[in-house]
Amino acid sequence: MIAMSTMLATLGQETNPWMAAAARFDEAAEKLKLDDGMRKILKSPAREITVNIPVLLDDGRFEVFTGYRVQHSIARGPGKGGIRFAPDVTLDEVRALASWMTWKCAVVNIPFGGAKGGVICQPNMLSDMELERITRRYTSEIIEFLGPERDVPAPDVNTNERTMAWIMDTYSMHVRRTTTAVVTGKPMALGGSLGRPEATGRGCMIVTREALKKLALNRSSPRVVIQGFGNVGGMAAKLMSKIGFQIICIIEYDGALYNPNGIDIEALAKHRGETGSINNFPGAAPIDKNEALFLECEVLLPAATENVIHSGNADRLHCKILCEGANGPTTPEADAILAEKGIFVIPDILANAGGVTVSYFEWVQDRQGFFWNEALVNKRLEEIMVNSFEAVVDYAEKHGVHNRTAAYMLALDRVASCIRLRGIYA
Ligand code: GLU
Repeated sequence: MIAMSTMLATLGQETNPWMAAAARFDEAAEKLKLDDGMRKILKSPAREITVNIPVLLDDGRFEVFTGYRVQHSIARGPGKGGIRFAPDVTLDEVRALASWMTWKCAVVNIPFGGAKGGVICQPNMLSDMELERITRRYTSEIIEFLGPERDVPAPDVNTNERTMAWIMDTYSMHVRRTTTAVVTGKPMALGGSLGRPEATGRGCMIVTREALKKLALNRSSPRVVIQGFGNVGGMAAKLMSKIGFQIICIIEYDGALYNPNGIDIEALAKHRGETGSINNFPGAAPIDKNEALFLECEVLLPAATENVIHSGNADRLHCKILCEGANGPTTPEADAILAEKGIFVIPDILANAGGVTVSYFEWVQDRQGFFWNEALVNKRLEEIMVNSFEAVVDYAEKHGVHNRTAAYMLALDRVASCIRLRGIYA
């Protein structure tokens, strides 16, 4: 942990997500030859809200928490994007994540803009009641900017369906009517969608499968290394092992496991459920978590935090495909190294778009008041992910650029076209 934070500190600006987002944006805008005015419009977040919220703690004291909601763009539809609770949330990070949501929704062509929220807090040090009060007060402070046609939050790091239920309830109490479509990722009983909890992991599985086909990596059981065993990594591991991939390594913040013959993912999930950790699992050997990223494999799936692949370690990767389950796991400096090594990158704004795609399905179902079965949700997700994968890869081949640049170009072009069609109310 110490070694990693020291290394990241020395990496300086490389690890600022807003600068990373800007670098990717500039490259794509340049290639598209976007005019200066359009670049300024697309680059600047449309609205940034900062709130300082007083919250009553269980011991009777008050604490003030800072929260953000950034709506990067509403050109293609309402703002869309998760809310994270973490001690290291910064406005720059939320800005970057909001812009990535804009590009992500455009890559998979769903009718949303991009937004993101964050509250600076240490969720594991707070009781359920304290978390509920933080969530409700944060929601009430940004309420005029939320709504099914305005901005629709969803879960992200350290938030879940329970958080979404509190947001839905707070919003509904204020507007005096139950408004399920104001958030996605809700519990099923409150208008959630079947297939939403698995959606991000399922999307990762689909695009990885397509990439393996594309590269004709015909190994009967491709070897996969996954960083993170939460909602994204855990689900991807489960779904990938179901279709015969060999999950040879799982890396968590407190340890890593290795089994060259493939880890039994169901058994590991059960073990983690019972013990609270992946460590001491009898079906795999412990391995140094700082070295595990560099194992030889067909697929590396970082599904945890930002900046894990950077200029200091990118040349040590031994994967053929990098599927970015997390948002922003790779720095722009690392991109060049990966390109040189010939690693096939499935960029985050494509790879992890399954989550927001099923969020879109949830929003549609809520507004229709008519719910789909799981097979239909998964079928529609499959279609969107396969088509988007093909669109990005074809674009990359046609324009002679890497997949990430192609995904950004495709997305910027779609958003810019909408802005041109709408005209600028200047
Ligand atoms: N937080 C997820 C993401 O980064 C999901 C967002 C959503 O469903 O709105 O894509």
